[in-house]
Amino acid sequence: MGFKARARANKAKTGDDEKKKDAKTGKEPCGVNGCEGWADSTMGGRSLSVTDAEDMWGKSVVVRKNRVRVCKSCYRSWKKTNKQDDYY
Ligand SMILES: [Zn+2]
Repeated sequence: MGFKARARANKAKTGDDEKKKDAKTGKEPCGVNGCEGWADSTMGGRSLSVTDAEDMWGKSVVVRKNRVRVCKSCYRSWKKTNKQDDYY
């Protein structure tokens, strides 16, 4: 009985947390300053090398572990500027 009650309490709590969060909120903010996108891989985010990112945005990028995580739209604009073999 006690176990069931606790399980229900946990479930309710999780549901509550989920409600508070925006459904489109990611965990990984875009590394480009001023961009409010999300760089989560589940949301189409990509990571660029520091050199590539600084070519595009200068020093207004957030570097993490020698990579710059960018959201989908930043990645697309970077790709447009840096025409690579595998553009789409
Ligand atoms: Zn971005």
